[in-house]
Amino acid sequence: MEQYVFLPPPVVAVPVRGNTALFPVRRVFCVGRNYAAHAVEMGRPVDKSSAEPFYFTKSSQAIIASGSRTPYPPGTHNFHYEMELVVAIGAPAFRVSEEEAPRAIFGYACGLDMTRRDLQLIARDQGRPWDLGKDVEQSAVISELVPATHLGVLKQGAISLRVNGAVKQQSDLQHLIWNIPELIAHLSRFYHLLPGDLIFTGTPEGVGPVQPGDRIEGFIEQVGTIELEIAAPE
Ligand code: MN
Repeated sequence: MEQYVFLPPPVVAVPVRGNTALFPVRRVFCVGRNYAAHAVEMGRPVDKSSAEPFYFTKSSQAIIASGSRTPYPPGTHNFHYEMELVVAIGAPAFRVSEEEAPRAIFGYACGLDMTRRDLQLIARDQGRPWDLGKDVEQSAVISELVPATHLGVLKQGAISLRVNGAVKQQSDLQHLIWNIPELIAHLSRFYHLLPGDLIFTGTPEGVGPVQPGDRIEGFIEQVGTIELEIAAPE
């Protein structure tokens, strides 16, 4: 007797530097507006003294590896790059303090939160969910994971992105509005964070559109690089 009526989807997993074993992905959390200059460019400045971080999610099925070639997605005329630090969770965390939070970190990766900006902004301005703008197929691009063992809690480091060789985003992790321990502690008030969860920590300023044929390259100091090529629409 068959156990399933059709084959279950394969486990989504990310390579780990220095390890032949893969990191199996559970959930993908994304932080909105976590660099002040990006919040301003989106027309929604953040005042940390009165605001809390907010999140959206992507399906783990939206993950693709660095170096992929992805078709320009359907339903948009304004497909944007967002270069981000990704934090990978490697231990359970529920209602943890900022001091306890670092124990939950497995490692880090470079990520691209590819976005149908036109659909995201329509949804935002109508008070609707962001799924069509954000949970785009093949939109969660991720590099290999670097174990946190030798890096500890990342507090600073250059983060940048080029399109066809031209610098579009250039900032530093020290400009994160909510830092890594603050994000893990905050998320853990709402979720039982578990090994396999990923947190895309938000993008710095300079987001913009790509076209078929464009080549995106991202870099985060101490973490690595990420690449994506945009192919013709299907
Ligand atoms: Mn983002």
